[in-house]
Amino acid sequence: MSALPEYRTRILLERENVPLVKGVFVTQVAEHPEDLPEMPVYLKAQIPGATSRKSRGLVRRIDTPDEFVKNLNILLSPGEWGLAEGVLITEGVDLIAEYYAGCMLDFGSRDKLPGGVLLFSTEGGSGVEGRSGTLLKMDFSLLHPPAVEDIETELKNLEGVEEHAAVAGFLKGMISTYIGYRLNVLEVNPLGVLKDGSILAIDCRAEFEKSAVRKSDWDVFFPPGLRSSRDITELEKAVELINRDDPSGTGFFRQNRDTPSNEALRVATNLCGGGGKMLWEMTTGSRTDIFTMNESDTSGGLSAFKSYRILRVVLAQKDAQVLLLTGSGMAFQNQHHLAAAVWKALRESPTPLPSLLRFGGTDEDKASELFERVSSTLPVPVRTYPAVIFPNAMVDDIRDIAGEAGKTGEIYIPPEGEPSITVETPPGKIYFYPERWKKDEIPPSVAACPTGFLKWDISGLTTDPEAKCIGCLMCETAALLDGNAEILIYLEMPEVVD
Ligand code: SF4
Repeated sequence: MSALPEYRTRILLERENVPLVKGVFVTQVAEHPEDLPEMPVYLKAQIPGATSRKSRGLVRRIDTPDEFVKNLNILLSPGEWGLAEGVLITEGVDLIAEYYAGCMLDFGSRDKLPGGVLLFSTEGGSGVEGRSGTLLKMDFSLLHPPAVEDIETELKNLEGVEEHAAVAGFLKGMISTYIGYRLNVLEVNPLGVLKDGSILAIDCRAEFEKSAVRKSDWDVFFPPGLRSSRDITELEKAVELINRDDPSGTGFFRQNRDTPSNEALRVATNLCGGGGKMLWEMTTGSRTDIFTMNESDTSGGLSAFKSYRILRVVLAQKDAQVLLLTGSGMAFQNQHHLAAAVWKALRESPTPLPSLLRFGGTDEDKASELFERVSSTLPVPVRTYPAVIFPNAMVDDIRDIAGEAGKTGEIYIPPEGEPSITVETPPGKIYFYPERWKKDEIPPSVAACPTGFLKWDISGLTTDPEAKCIGCLMCETAALLDGNAEILIYLEMPEVVD
């Protein structure tokens, strides 16, 4: 998934007549307009995918013309964050309230069509207490989106919002933008309320799949002559390699370029889906005691093989203290398979982290059951949470789990020699050890294969050429839990991670 910075997201919203705070985008100091808006103004470095920009100094309030030129120069020069595409200059406005609004994709399930989800919170960009009680979550059809009146009716059930008609009109414009440009995520945070009751987008961002962009919209999504540098870390390069070798599903990873304060807890994250990412940002965006080491999104029905690989990268981040994994609870991604990937990553990584895991989606109960069986065998403490738990409850546990002692784990030794089966897509090597399974009956590992790719006959293990390996890890999981470790899977990692 790719990200659109604020100034380009604004273009899309503007085309749908969504009201925005006044702003001008510049790529050079000399480009700034002579008639600046009245001070204060805000300077915002435009970097696709960057979040928590205020705490990272990428958003600055400016009160004098001198400060303006100096700070514009700084933000237009390469920094810890790389080189910004430019700087958005927006006027300061007096707000009487700040809200949050987001649209995201629900991939659906066997008994539910894919569609959109509208999230709206009266808590804006700050404060988490009681957030779940002030959150509106509204599913919508992509073919027949809701009318303004429908949204207004829903808003009237929510505490703390008074400008029902104006907000409903704004959210309708957001939904039109979201559907019209085939976005995966569209977020406005904060959505500001002025004294006269009118509503403005103060900050916004979007995520999209490159393949979904229409040619007619390339001017916004892929503008020529972008000056942004390829500021990429070793671990981000590793994820690019993983995506190159296994392009199915989303495998997004970007590290935070900022330096954490000494007191902040350093949290490595795996947020499965745009919804998980939004919930995390809403929950921790304003907290200085939590330092998010990275953004990562594994969703879109990717295999457990790929989830494992991205998790191994997430765990490899130097100085991380805790792993926090959460999904939106709506993404169409088998949680039992994901749990198998998490378990494998925690037992095979040379740097496992105490983990807070919130599974949500298909087979979420099986995911939790798996961890009930294996948590005590891991070298790090692990807690799991049901999907109904809002992420702020998990955040409250970060400090506790970071202080819990782990135990010495066995060093993972990968299987050696020629694998019994090599799977091309998703890439993986399956090792079968016949000496560990001498019984006549079918081994649990083969019985667990959901596609029938693994077969068992008189001669032992075979494969069905008509079936496909989907990289779910169920065979290895069953072999370790119910068999004699007769099947092991080796998933090669880029060198920097191993
Ligand atoms: S062989 Fe079967 S059980 Fe094992 S990963 Fe492939 S599809 Fe899953």
